[in-house]
Amino acid sequence: MNYTNDKNAEGRMSDKYLLKKKEQKLSSLSNCIDKLKVEWLKNKSIAALWNDWPRIAGNKLASNCIPLNFQGGILTIGSNHPQWIQALIFNRNQLLAALRAEGHEIKDLRIQQYYPQKIEPKDNETFIWEKHPSRVDIYGKKKCPICNAPSPIGEISLWGKCGLCRRNDLTQ
Ligand SMILES: [Zn+2]
Repeated sequence: MNYTNDKNAEGRMSDKYLLKKKEQKLSSLSNCIDKLKVEWLKNKSIAALWNDWPRIAGNKLASNCIPLNFQGGILTIGSNHPQWIQALIFNRNQLLAALRAEGHEIKDLRIQQYYPQKIEPKDNETFIWEKHPSRVDIYGKKKCPICNAPSPIGEISLWGKCGLCRRNDLTQ
């Protein structure tokens, strides 16, 4: 038995071991890249859809209906107006065919109501005006118990007097 030879054998063993480790590392890296690729392709497909959508749907439809989601081959298109939802339903098969012809792997097309704009606040000017006690046309008139002037009922039921009397009270 030669001590030096043994050591060489050991050295070769550890070289092999390191090489195997290196391969494992590389394969896990390529797994990672594969995952990234899938992720990237998923993002790319919705990005590509967004890109092609105005051309496929036409400007009018595209500016009122947008692709919201594309998952598992199912494309969801949202629109905020019943008229455009009707248009989407009416053109559904044509859109599917056009999207497929462009190379998008779409199994099904779903249409849903979508609210892209913020919901109108209730306390807008019209709403406040509708509730305003000075609106004679909806509240009618009544004599003010202080000055006897015909005044909006809303004002009298709210303040127990007309708006003028109330203003006098407030400025006194
Ligand atoms: Zn009054």
